Amino acid sequence: MKLLEDRIKKEGKALSETVLKVDSFINHQVDSEFMDALGEDFAEHFKDAGITKVFTIESSGIAPALMTAKHLDVPMVILKKQTSKILNGNVYQTRITSFTKGTSYELTLFADYIQPEDRILLIDDFLANGEAAMGASRIIAESGATLAGIGILIEKSFQKGRNRLEEAGYNVYSQARIGKLGEGVIEFLDEDAPAADLASEASE
Ligand code: 5GP
Repeated sequence: MKLLEDRIKKEGKALSETVLKVDSFINHQVDSEFMDALGEDFAEHFKDAGITKVFTIESSGIAPALMTAKHLDVPMVILKKQTSKILNGNVYQTRITSFTKGTSYELTLFADYIQPEDRILLIDDFLANGEAAMGASRIIAESGATLAGIGILIEKSFQKGRNRLEEAGYNVYSQARIGKLGEGVIEFLDEDAPAADLASEASE
């Protein structure tokens, strides 16, 4: 998606060969008009998927997920990051290891906010190794609902997430796909370029 690629070129900063900083418009300061445009694009892409709810993982996915939900006219649900297991209550939980922080958390959802007949669109800001998305998929599967699509703002195609999600059979749409990162280097891939050969050099 050109709008997002242009903004990344202008404001994104490659902190290393694996980490991109987009704090000025996605992760820290948020451009609401811009998020609305990204949400509209996701809604258009998944308009025929019968989506009943948009899910995201706190916190950076919330802004684009909310805008997507607004354009699809469905509720948005935030999967929470808890530090420990909730032992009582009707919850789904699964353990995730965070790519950027190297820490673990319990991805948590109260059962009230998902039904077996739901068709879920998962929105997240980045796709790296696919840990967060695979965790969300476990929770959705456990509830009996369907993960009908995954929308990512920025996919780092040189990491293994895209392949993992596709191998698991999910429909993934990334608005920007990065083939290479480095000091002063941000290279984009076309929407339909394969991630496979790049993923063989995947870095953690
Ligand atoms: P994954 O679960 O796919 O391994 O990593 C995705 C999560 O890690 C995203 O939700 C995002 O919060 C974080 N993340 C991964 N890579 C980056 C990155 O390059 N920059 C930033 N800001 N966050 C990232």
